[in-house]
Amino acid sequence: MNDSLDTTLPIAILGAGPVGLAAAAHVAARGLTPLILEAGALVGANLESYRHVRLFSPWQYNVDRAARGLLEAAGWRMPAPDSLPTAGELVDGYLRPLAALPVLAAQLKLGQRVVAITRAGFDKVKTRGRERAPFVIRVRTEEGERDYLASAVIDATGTWSQPNPLGAHGVPAQGEAALGARIFYGMPDVLGRERARYAGKRVLVVGAGHSAAGTLLALAQLADEVPGTQLVWAIRGQPGAKLFGGGEADGLAARGLLGMRLQALQQSGRLELRQSFRIRSLADNGGVITVYDDAGAAPIEEIAEVIAATGARPDLELTRELRVRHDPWLESTDLLAPLIDPNEHSCGTVRPHGHRELAHPEPGYYAVGAKSYGRAPNFLMATGYEQVRSVVAALAGDLAAADDVQLELPETGVCSTRQAYDDTPAAGCCGGPAPAAAPGCCAADAQASAEGKGGCGCAAAAPAARCGA
Ligand SMILES: Cc1cc2nc3c(=O)[nH]c(=O)nc-3n(C[C@H](O)[C@H](O)[C@H](O)COP(=O)(O)OP(=O)(O)OC[C@H]3O[C@@H](n4cnc5c(N)ncnc54)[C@H](O)[C@@H]3O)c2cc1C
Repeated sequence: MNDSLDTTLPIAILGAGPVGLAAAAHVAARGLTPLILEAGALVGANLESYRHVRLFSPWQYNVDRAARGLLEAAGWRMPAPDSLPTAGELVDGYLRPLAALPVLAAQLKLGQRVVAITRAGFDKVKTRGRERAPFVIRVRTEEGERDYLASAVIDATGTWSQPNPLGAHGVPAQGEAALGARIFYGMPDVLGRERARYAGKRVLVVGAGHSAAGTLLALAQLADEVPGTQLVWAIRGQPGAKLFGGGEADGLAARGLLGMRLQALQQSGRLELRQSFRIRSLADNGGVITVYDDAGAAPIEEIAEVIAATGARPDLELTRELRVRHDPWLESTDLLAPLIDPNEHSCGTVRPHGHRELAHPEPGYYAVGAKSYGRAPNFLMATGYEQVRSVVAALAGDLAAADDVQLELPETGVCSTRQAYDDTPAAGCCGGPAPAAAPGCCAADAQASAEGKGGCGCAAAAPAARCGA
């Protein structure tokens, strides 16, 4: 057992999404006590918000090993490993049964929004004895505020509830807040619950990722069914190899297919594509929205509804009183950033990493799951499951297991060098995990490149200022 871990207190797990619940399963499997604090009324609240979306990773990548062990001991059976659940099926068929296991259910508290994490009796400045002080977790509930004590904190709150704004400069576009009622951030169920909102309307989708692709394809189906439905798509960059994904080279067939279908839709002429469009402002013009570009391109006009598929960012306010150190631009940890920086490469693959890469100066605090990636996209649940296995092993004092990080992820097929973020064509094609023994991204890239094959980033041609940092 880790000597500094006070086993009279639980290990707090913030967020009951797939990675938070996996962390709880690992904690329970090691005979420790989790305390799971979830803001939503149900587990998997973020997945619930896009429950209609079919995931692109099959069941085999979506179920954590410790969670599976606990579930199967209670009679649960794993769905066909290569079938693709919707987000809702993942919640109903896996997360809810997992959370209902007595070993977790007793420790799960719903409707508890964490608003701050600190150390009992210590503000950020005070040092002596700090690492022995319990963590204090302040939550907001319908009944008011309350504090919980914990020996360690695993923050799996994701990023989905902090969507990026439409504004091209990272701050809301002028007029964005005022038009909030006609902007949907995320993936609306355009063929189901939100059908009436979009049917027969001219709809602008903003963003270049998988969420935008999925929404555009759903809108295209709506346009087939309801005349007058028009699709406009705005992206900051230009369409290139990255934009439409890896196609048949993608290790996740459904993800590759998504890009191929989007490309076919664009080529069909049914989609008005506005490339290199950097949104500066939005204005209400007699009931319809006009969207203006920062460089003076012709505005996008007559828009009834906007869907912002612009990604998300972590909530760093929670840790204001903790000693955390983030990468200045990605808001992941320093050590993780070079492995996932979309400026350098667009790998879905990432070198295996665990508690060491996720550690902050504040001992006992870890951000895991989608939040661990900060603003970088392409997070996969399987990555989070290995993260929490390693982190919980480290908290339990089992450093051999904690350091034995292993991760095998499907390739994206578009692991490109440089500027993937702005959707410019890939400078080269590569992919595949970097050698496990490589000390960092640059070394891995150099080695992979020398061997004439891809690795994490395979960025031999890139100046890679980041890697020297
Ligand atoms: C449309 C879409 C499709 C995706 N498809 C795939 C896929 O096919 N395969 C894949 O591997 N990944 C996919 N992803 C990525 C996916 O987000 C993650 O893999 C997964 O949801 C990450 O799990 P998580 O537990 O880290 O975070 P989340 O699932 O975001 O869970 C975070 C939890 O924390 C809770 N929470 C947030 N703030 C607080 C707070 N302050 N206090 C308490 N609780 C809080 C939330 O309510 C939520 O329950 C997809 C993402 C999107 C958006």
